[in-house]
Amino acid sequence: MKKITIIGSGISSLAASCYLAQAGYNVTIYEKNKTIGGRARQLKKDGFTFDMGPTWYWMPDVFERFFSDFGKVPSDFYELEKLNPAYIVYFGIDDYITIEDTLEKISEAFEKEEPGSSAKLKKFMASAMDNYNIAIKDLVYRPGVSPLELVTVTTLRKIGQYFSTVGKEVRKEFKNPKLVSILEFPVLFLGAKPSKTPAFYNFMNYADFGLGTFHPKNGMYSVVQSIKILAENLGVTIKTEQNVEKITVENGKATCLIVNGERVETDLVLSGADYHHTETLLDKKFRQYSENYWQKKTLAPSALLFYVGFNKKIENVNHHTLFFDVDFEKHSQQIYDTAQWPEEPLFYASFPSKTDASVSPEDKEAGIFLIPLAPGLDDIPEIREEYFEKIMDRFEEITNQEVRNYVIFKESFCINDFVSDYNSYKGNAYGLANTLLQTAFLRPKLKSGKVKNLFFTGQLTVPGPGVPPALISGKLVAGLIEKEQKN
Ligand SMILES: Cc1cc2nc3c(=O)[nH]c(=O)nc-3n(C[C@H](O)[C@H](O)[C@H](O)COP(=O)(O)OP(=O)(O)OC[C@H]3O[C@@H](n4cnc5c(N)ncnc54)[C@H](O)[C@@H]3O)c2cc1C
Repeated sequence: MKKITIIGSGISSLAASCYLAQAGYNVTIYEKNKTIGGRARQLKKDGFTFDMGPTWYWMPDVFERFFSDFGKVPSDFYELEKLNPAYIVYFGIDDYITIEDTLEKISEAFEKEEPGSSAKLKKFMASAMDNYNIAIKDLVYRPGVSPLELVTVTTLRKIGQYFSTVGKEVRKEFKNPKLVSILEFPVLFLGAKPSKTPAFYNFMNYADFGLGTFHPKNGMYSVVQSIKILAENLGVTIKTEQNVEKITVENGKATCLIVNGERVETDLVLSGADYHHTETLLDKKFRQYSENYWQKKTLAPSALLFYVGFNKKIENVNHHTLFFDVDFEKHSQQIYDTAQWPEEPLFYASFPSKTDASVSPEDKEAGIFLIPLAPGLDDIPEIREEYFEKIMDRFEEITNQEVRNYVIFKESFCINDFVSDYNSYKGNAYGLANTLLQTAFLRPKLKSGKVKNLFFTGQLTVPGPGVPPALISGKLVAGLIEKEQKN
């Protein structure tokens, strides 16, 4: 039985391990941290449970498709609830829009803000659904080996959408700035500005309004735990606190890893760790992308996060609450163009205990706050604190309550932690953005061009950032490995 060693236990690595074990490989995962899941890890403290990374469960069909490949359904592992409202967006004091759980109700909310917008929204969503069906049911399941993968009769019909942007198309139809920012919000998950994201990616709007927002009981970490169970049942060995320090190459092939100073022999290597970091584990001549290549890439943002235990129930917020009460465009520029700490940041707050009693003690609330940031900024404790105060001022004013005095504890996570915990390049949170020039075959490759039996997976490869893409990336690389082995 061929032995494959996997670096890292993020969602893409875990997913790939299941496919590879099912295909008959002897699979072992080496994870540097104490716990598995990578950016989707969990923090437990004083009776509170926090998802440290992903909190939005979108595209339930992708999760179903993953589990069905193993004869399972998500409900074999976790309970899923469709959230209603899906989320609320604050634009100021007493100024907010609630996004409910059906397109009909969302259209009504739009119509109240901008007369005539509900009909436009339905038209926009029909195109978004069409794109979703093309992209998620087909295109994203292609391994990015050749540009020809993208050429089909259907995609040729859509070619214009690669040369327009989500930002442009949204603004053509909608004038109200609040509606514009709500429609631009989903593509932020892809890691780039709406004005730089091809219009075809409006399929994210279908994921948002068409399919809805879900919550797995106990949080997104339930997904990680489920894949772990699946993987172990298929025979995968998962080892934690195992830092991979080097990939040794002999005669053009990776022959062993150095893990915590010990040699681990292997037939094949798959890395789900950040791509740039993985290549630094190789001698320079075996790296296929230069420092200059990475410098030029548009990385997805990093983030400043706070995980907060509150000693009371928080009012006037939802499971997912967005604070778009400041200039969306200006914050975007400070992430993507000028790379600086934002003067007035947009932020996102999640209170999972609003719908899931299992994640906080009774009468208390678990709060997660996220500010998107440019990667590579100077990250020091004083700045984190300054930003906590900044967003708390606005939070208290907008939601009309005092919360700071009810903080039992708070932990922060930012650029330096992304680097130290995940070996993330410049402390990126979501990998590499999905811009036109970083889409599909233009992304870093799943297979090394310099080391025969070295493969990559995860959010810096295809299809891109997010939990559903990570599941797909694991499937794609496992398929590619199998194909290569047969040849
Ligand atoms: C704050 C935040 C919020 C997010 N929100 C959402 C959301 O709401 N919805 C959504 O769908 N997605 C969201 N995402 C994105 C999603 O979480 C990621 O795209 C996905 O989890 C990435 O998985 P991955 O397998 O690519 O890599 P990772 O999760 O980064 O896994 C890589 C693993 O490799 C390990 N590793 C690195 N170097 C070594 C080494 N030398 N030796 C051994 N192990 C090593 C790391 O410790 C890590 O465990 C969010 C991400 C973040 C950070």
